[in-house]
Amino acid sequence: MIRKRELKKEVNLFEEIVRHAPVACFVIRAEDDTVKFANEKVEDVLGFSHLEVVGKPLTDFIKYRLEKWAKLKGLIKEGAYFKTESDFKRNDGEVISVKYEATKFRWEDGKSYYIFFVRKMLGEILAGSLYQHIFENADDWIYTVDLDGKFTSVNQKFLRTLGYSEKELVGKTAGELGLIRGDYRNLATEEFEKRVNQESSSSTRYQVEVVSKSGDIFFVDISAVPIIDKNRVVGMQGVARDITAARKYERKILSLNKELEDKVKERTEKLQETLSLKEQLLADVSHELRTPLTIINLVLENIQDNNEYIPSELGSIAQEVDRIERLISDLSLVALPVSEDTLFPFEKNINVTEIALDVIRRLASLTKKKNLTVVVEFEKIEMYTNIDLFDRLLTNLLTNAIKYSKNNKEIIVRMFKVGEAVVLEVQDFGAGIPEEKKLFIFERFYQVDQSRDRGKGGVGLGLSIVKWVVEKHKGIVSVESKEGEGALFRVVFSHISSHGE
Ligand code: ADP
Repeated sequence: MIRKRELKKEVNLFEEIVRHAPVACFVIRAEDDTVKFANEKVEDVLGFSHLEVVGKPLTDFIKYRLEKWAKLKGLIKEGAYFKTESDFKRNDGEVISVKYEATKFRWEDGKSYYIFFVRKMLGEILAGSLYQHIFENADDWIYTVDLDGKFTSVNQKFLRTLGYSEKELVGKTAGELGLIRGDYRNLATEEFEKRVNQESSSSTRYQVEVVSKSGDIFFVDISAVPIIDKNRVVGMQGVARDITAARKYERKILSLNKELEDKVKERTEKLQETLSLKEQLLADVSHELRTPLTIINLVLENIQDNNEYIPSELGSIAQEVDRIERLISDLSLVALPVSEDTLFPFEKNINVTEIALDVIRRLASLTKKKNLTVVVEFEKIEMYTNIDLFDRLLTNLLTNAIKYSKNNKEIIVRMFKVGEAVVLEVQDFGAGIPEEKKLFIFERFYQVDQSRDRGKGGVGLGLSIVKWVVEKHKGIVSVESKEGEGALFRVVFSHISSHGE
């Protein structure tokens, strides 16, 4: 009696265990497929309420797989353990993957029963498809290769970017396909071999150029790791990131840097040049000032010594003072930067014809001395300029023409328009300028022939002032000359410089 009660208790306990088991469990009578028992988990896994299925033939709710069930029954042997994976259509229509374990046993009523334990494979399926999803949708190129370097798998991004189909790629090496060429191929091969030969099992990272099927070039950063199976390297898997754009910027930055460096170098050189020009200027200026001051000193000493003066000596003092004055005013001009624009404001519609006639009149005494005829070929011209600067420009050109002209010759001053540009020409028929010196005559203190030119009262600043004034007008000055036949200086004021807009 006691034994029976104990037994009953035990059966109840087993029933409870099965009811609360974490997997779906049901028992089916073999002879008519009737479900004899189903725990609550059945509902969770298969979507059928356990109350709904108990007492009903299994075939009522696995209608779509009757054949399979018939086959399965044949496979499950009494006392043997059977395990398989399959899909299952739930009551709500969802098809899920399941893993089930089963066995067949004979009970005390002499009948055979199947007992099933069913588990959803949701977790594993999800994990698998998640990796698949990541692999296929990654923005990087993902691939695996075998020990010969032949592709075993590649993701969509890889195929799409490089224009190959999976069939074309799988089974071939990157070298064979021409994906990686030249030095990059050597680098990739070296990295691959090192890992495959297990010299290093760690990951590797290198950058190579990859050529697509259509010839587009990509620069990629590859990080690859050996695939290890049972302590042996069986291949490599790699992730390649397209860094073409970043590299382009990197190159751009490098070239900008180089440009900057060159500019700084150029500026420094210019600065050094300017500094040495300044030193030169200082030396020249002191020389130029010393000469007239020595003359003045001598004359003054003479007057002091003799306590009397000869009027002509005073005249030479006046001449030298004049020379110093001119030099200082010229110097103050050439020392100014061209960008300086407060001292000489420009105005529109200045009648330069008037200025030119004025200059010619002012220099009449000099032309008269050499019996020169100044021929004017003008039309009335107005332009954007500064009166003093234009005057200075023409004065310097005309003074030179007079200085270097032979006696009794003509000097021609032309002014005309070419379209919207204004052209000013001063031509003489004098000594002219040797071809090889033409380049230098606009430099400060440059004189073609010091013994010849200094005697004419100049110090080599006249043309540098001309150049300075022309640059201020954003114009161009040039010279045409044949030694011994004369010189023609031409200034072109372009549309902008002549109109001021
Ligand atoms: P300078 O005060 O010595 O005339 P410039 O700067 O005006 O200095 O001219 C520089 C040099 O160019 C002169 O020394 C001279 O040798 C040459 N030069 C200028 N104008 C003429 C010209 N019309 N004919 C011949 N040589 C000229």
